[in-house]
Amino acid sequence: LLAPLAALTSAILIALIIWVSRQRMSPRSELQLGLKRNEFIAVYQPIIELASGRCIGAEALARWHRPGGAAISPDVFIPLAEDNNLIEQLTERIIRVSAGELGPLLRGNKDLHISINLSSADMASGHFLRVLQEVLPQAGIAPAQIWLEATERSFIDVERARTILDQARARGHPVAIDDFGTGYSNLSLLEALPLDTLKIDKSFVAAIGQDASTSVVVAHIISMANNLGLAIVAEGVETREQESYLVHAQARYAQGWLYARPMSAEKFTSFLQDNARTDAQTLTPAPGTV
Ligand code: C2E
Ligand code: MG
Ligand code: MG
Ligand code: MG
Repeated sequence: LLAPLAALTSAILIALIIWVSRQRMSPRSELQLGLKRNEFIAVYQPIIELASGRCIGAEALARWHRPGGAAISPDVFIPLAEDNNLIEQLTERIIRVSAGELGPLLRGNKDLHISINLSSADMASGHFLRVLQEVLPQAGIAPAQIWLEATERSFIDVERARTILDQARARGHPVAIDDFGTGYSNLSLLEALPLDTLKIDKSFVAAIGQDASTSVVVAHIISMANNLGLAIVAEGVETREQESYLVHAQARYAQGWLYARPMSAEKFTSFLQDNARTDAQTLTPAPGTV
């Protein structure tokens, strides 16, 4: 009886020591430990073509699964990782996880893409390009299937950013400017940088139907982007009202809770199957019609 009791006591003690030491850890050590233990995972939020309802891909979004710890939002741990020089490791992790989990899906459907978020340190070093160069051929994923999302804030050094993005596009990666409208010097950036896609920040989409002047700004951003030859993704679409406004304003793609929340790779796989089925139904004429 004593032996199992001793084992149990020591197990409890060890767990307690781990718990206490985590409480005393600095954010940097905790992030480092989380990276080492693969606690960062990716969830995927579908991106929908408004005209057809077809899912054209998904944005990979980082989540931190800390065993025993409270959930921490990306709005908290991403800036922490940025401030502690760990964001490049996190970007690498998200690229590797996404390619691993969605590789089979992407190999089977060359029209499908995954969007990866980049921070200013990524834009400065270009380390993610080396990671992609290693990972994608192994996974059988075409560069055109990995879109890159960079926020206005990540373009601290515009010249450097241009060099990195030129390299990325030369390899075949489409580039999106993310959270458009939340930073400053928006318009000059659109001219200065090699871009394919513009993502309208969800704060603008939320104003549709709520705030008349901001709604007009949204329509103008979309028309400007269309004139510049940029594809538009509206993020944070939650209502049919927002959707129809965006359709009228001629936005091409949308992403938001109206369509789907971010989900696991497994759920995304079945989401795609359902999406292809409804897509086929709407596109196939009913019997008797030609
Ligand atoms: P983001 O890149 O603009 O991603 C869109 C955010 O909007 C996500 O928040 C998503 O969950 C949320 N969202 C999507 N649809 C809706 C909607 O209909 N309503 C509302 N209210 N929210 C919606 P999330 O996942 O919390 O991520 C927050 C931010 O953290 C991201 O904003 C991105 O800037 C950053 N982030 C997330 N993962 C990564 C990553 O792997 N690397 C980097 N560098 N940043 C990341
Ligand atoms: Mg993004
Ligand atoms: Mg965004
Ligand atoms: Mg945003």
